[in-house]
Amino acid sequence: MTLTLYNTLTRAKETFEPIDPANVRMYVCGPTVYDYAHIGNARPVIVFDVLFRLLRHLYGADHVTYVRNITDVDDKINARAAERGISIRELTEETARAFHEDTDALGVLRPSIEPRATEHIEEMLAMIGRLVKNHHAYAADGHVLFDVPSMHDYGELARRPLDEMKAGARVEVAPYKRDPMDFVLWKPSKPGEPGWDSPWGRGRPGWHIECSAMSWKHLGKVFDIHGGGIDLVFPHHENEIAQSRCCHGTDVMARYWLHNGFLQVEGEKMSKSLGNFIVIHDLLKDWPGEAIRLNMLRTHYRQPIDWTVAGLEESVKVLDGLYEAVGEADAGTPDEAVVAALCDDLNTPKAIAALHGLRNAAAHGDATAAAALKASANLLGLLAGTHTDWFAARKEAAHVDEATVEALIAARAAARKARNFAEADRIRDEIAALGVVLKDGPAGTTWEVTR
Ligand code: AMP
Ligand code: ZN
Repeated sequence: MTLTLYNTLTRAKETFEPIDPANVRMYVCGPTVYDYAHIGNARPVIVFDVLFRLLRHLYGADHVTYVRNITDVDDKINARAAERGISIRELTEETARAFHEDTDALGVLRPSIEPRATEHIEEMLAMIGRLVKNHHAYAADGHVLFDVPSMHDYGELARRPLDEMKAGARVEVAPYKRDPMDFVLWKPSKPGEPGWDSPWGRGRPGWHIECSAMSWKHLGKVFDIHGGGIDLVFPHHENEIAQSRCCHGTDVMARYWLHNGFLQVEGEKMSKSLGNFIVIHDLLKDWPGEAIRLNMLRTHYRQPIDWTVAGLEESVKVLDGLYEAVGEADAGTPDEAVVAALCDDLNTPKAIAALHGLRNAAAHGDATAAAALKASANLLGLLAGTHTDWFAARKEAAHVDEATVEALIAARAAARKARNFAEADRIRDEIAALGVVLKDGPAGTTWEVTR
């Protein structure tokens, strides 16, 4: 099957051709670990997890290397650690651990390699040294800056007019800069700030060079796919490209650049000041991770997504239906229509629609369809658990008292037996008000929660 991906670099959907099918290489910018990740941060994590799963399906699980970094040196980290009165190391360890807990709960596979910026200072210094030697960077006032005008095709990814790029980069005018567009590769550290010795004095790296160094170390000078949120196109990815290409003398850094659209909440930009800031850690207290994941995938990754409670509720219902139909089936072969939808620039809404077709067939007792449903959903990171566990967790989360429900079911059965149908109906309504639906079957009455 042919995989097509929308490439931000060319602004076109292209057939994906890996440099080496025996080792397909993908890099995605990871979290800066100073606080819990929010639901917007979850989007690239989930989206690129689906792509990772798809690549593993197409090329073989041992033939894909997925690198997602952890940025553990950053001014926001320094500030937060000082605010909380803990060490930087404590803060970054704690936050990285929380990030893993959250993403595990969202059914996200761990990447093949998860490099930390602080463990790659040597590679960053090697790249910076080379850029200085190549006349693409210069030292000034304890800083090292990338010389933007030295690169003739700077801006090829963002494709924006220079003045717009300047505004977008919120360009800092500093006396040590030759051109306002020049950006920091290395900056001096004051006593008390994290720092490493370098030929330009004790200092720390700029953010962009971290990703250039880690991707080079783990994936090579040129690799297949680079991903992240749309906000990273400029300046972060543009600058990664500038550094890597000028350092290594290559035409491209990565061949396919993929960007997910932004997430807003109930029609508004998510922000702390609007009070609609949703942290994954909190959301997981109220919703199954799988429903959060499904809700994210019901929108195509390049579209903006409006995150709503109504959407989450509906996602839970959809999962009820899928688990109901799949039963305890083992995974078979993924359905062609689902794979084809994913191969069409990761069209997850279309893939989910195809799951519904399988669900209908499986619900009518088609065992092959049930096995295909399980395997296809797994490709999206869904239906990983069992039918029993899903409904048990749903009952637990709904805080419905089992004994109460069982007693009402018995009372209803007694009323029916006495042909008191009005009373039986009344009890059914009482049960429904608890958020429980009864299922009368040949083996008696079972129940499930509806919220
Ligand atoms: P940050 O911690 O801001 O560097 O973001 C980490 C990742 O989350 C990047 O890939 C961002 O593009 C992405 N991201 C941040 N906010 C949102 C949002 N509201 N919607 C979608 N992606 C986001
Ligand atoms: Zn990056």
